[in-house]
Amino acid sequence: MSDNCPCCLQENVAPVAENSRGRQVSHLYQCPTCGHVWSTNRDLGAYEQDAA
Ligand SMILES: [Zn+2]
Repeated sequence: MSDNCPCCLQENVAPVAENSRGRQVSHLYQCPTCGHVWSTNRDLGAYEQDAA
C-alpha cells in the first residue's frame, strides 16, 4: 500500500516497514526523493471490506 510524501508530494512511495497491532496496521515510509520519513495507521476493517 503506497502513500504520498507529505513533504515534497512524491506519489506512490512504497512502505519500508509494516507493523500490525490489533486491528490497526501501521506502515513506515521513506521518500526516495527528499528522504522524509513518516508513518501511517490504518484500520484493518477497511482491508476486510476491500477483500469481500
Ligand atoms: Zn518527499
